[in-house]
Amino acid sequence: MNAKFIFITGGVVSSLGKGITAASIGFLLKSRGLKVVNQKFDPYLNIDPGTMNPYQHGEVFVTVDGGETDLDLGHYERFTDVQLRKFNNTTAGKVYLSILDRERAGGYNGNTVQVIPHVTDEIRKRILQTAEETDADVIITEVGGTVGDIESLPFIEAIRQIKYSAGKGNCVFVHLGLLPYLKECGELKTKPMQHSVKELLGFGIQPDIIMCRSEKPLAKSIREKLGLFCNVTQDAIIENLSAKSIYEVPLMLEKEGLGKKLCSLLGLDDPTPSLNEWRAMVQRFYNPEKETTIALVGKYVELHDAYLSVAEALTAGGIHHNAKVKIEWIDAEKIVDAAKAAEILGKADGIVVPGGFGDRGTAGMILTAQYARENRVPYFGICLGMQIAVIEYARNVLGMADANSSEFNQTTDYPVIDLMPDQQGVKLGGTLRLGEFRCVITEGTLAEKAYKLHDILERHRHRYEFNNLYRAQFEASEMRLTGRNPERNLIEIVELSGHPWFLGVQFHPEFGSRPNRAHPLFRDFIGASIERTGK
Ligand code: GLN
Repeated sequence: MNAKFIFITGGVVSSLGKGITAASIGFLLKSRGLKVVNQKFDPYLNIDPGTMNPYQHGEVFVTVDGGETDLDLGHYERFTDVQLRKFNNTTAGKVYLSILDRERAGGYNGNTVQVIPHVTDEIRKRILQTAEETDADVIITEVGGTVGDIESLPFIEAIRQIKYSAGKGNCVFVHLGLLPYLKECGELKTKPMQHSVKELLGFGIQPDIIMCRSEKPLAKSIREKLGLFCNVTQDAIIENLSAKSIYEVPLMLEKEGLGKKLCSLLGLDDPTPSLNEWRAMVQRFYNPEKETTIALVGKYVELHDAYLSVAEALTAGGIHHNAKVKIEWIDAEKIVDAAKAAEILGKADGIVVPGGFGDRGTAGMILTAQYARENRVPYFGICLGMQIAVIEYARNVLGMADANSSEFNQTTDYPVIDLMPDQQGVKLGGTLRLGEFRCVITEGTLAEKAYKLHDILERHRHRYEFNNLYRAQFEASEMRLTGRNPERNLIEIVELSGHPWFLGVQFHPEFGSRPNRAHPLFRDFIGASIERTGK
């Protein structure tokens, strides 16, 4: 193992875009031909965000091996195009769980179990494990939270120890903080950043690079002041301005010399990075030739982060077609009848119903699917959105009046979406179908046209399935069952024939989409929506 380590901490305030910064660093190093892996430490005590309310935490990003992880892993994957794993997201909950399990099993030989060394050792073990399991040249670790938070202290101490053991030139600390701009005096202020660096110094960490989030460019005097008080050279002060698009950030940081500085600190070669493809993608995004409006109908729409990967995948679909995608965020509970559906969805060129759990909002989503079906508006149902399309069709076309998912109504006469027999009676936590599974695609379908493949792998995060008892009735109708998991005989894709583009998937294609390589289903959905715009 010859891995080098980059640690990213945050200071002054939260929500500065540490995730985008970490992802950008991964991208810049990968563009220089290095093998990189990003990972995230989250100091909270939940084991993972899987059980958290989306309003607390935003979307749960699912890794191919079925990890339910922080949404920053989605940024990492989209920027670096490296598929991450469960172990790339460590929470304090996971750390403590493994320590306490070991303690109960007598693994500490009668010793007192303590934050130092046991918690810090466990954290260090996870950093080194990532290096070993991935064989990456550079491991980029983002430490969640803000320096000085009580709960992040063991993580800060662990990364300090890594620097000590990894040796000179193998470990770099990047500290990202805010330089507030005071309108009254027309100045950027450095004091909060100085304090935050001082705090880090108090924990034994001297940042090698200071990244300054700011609204205004950094004047020379500001840079000099920062250098003096934070003990860094001028080339280690990196301006990180707000960008119009997150995808421009790595290009801005490259211009600021970040890639070069990182390579020199880590003793790595610094070849010219290949940025052309990415640059072209950003250019296409900034110069769209057309526009299409997509209604996203869900129940957490006030917090756009709850649907982050879906929104990014829609944008990527637009970039592919040189189109700006305007997302209208629609609260499903506002759609109370067909007239409201027509009023609210009337301007949409395409409609997405994304994933979700629980009954709230499903009535409005069913009206949404009906509206899209009857008015020939492109419809893309993802996970819950596929189940909704099936329920709507069963009710309104196949004559099953109270058809439903047994998640929402356990006494329905027509549980068209249901638990599989082997899931019945299992406690909730153990029944989610998580991670990548196969799907075999039928010929002559929208799915085949998109993927140009018959056997695909996609990520899942759901509990309920299309109920195979109703297969014959659907197969005799216009709702075709066009994708199937062969191992467990589960329906994965449904499509409506005689409709411009109506497709539902039981999986989550959004996690596999990249800004410069739109997922084929999002690409074609946006294509169909653009076609409708033109009409
Ligand atoms: N609630 C549904 C299920 O568990 C859908 C889940 C989802 O959309 N991610 O099957």
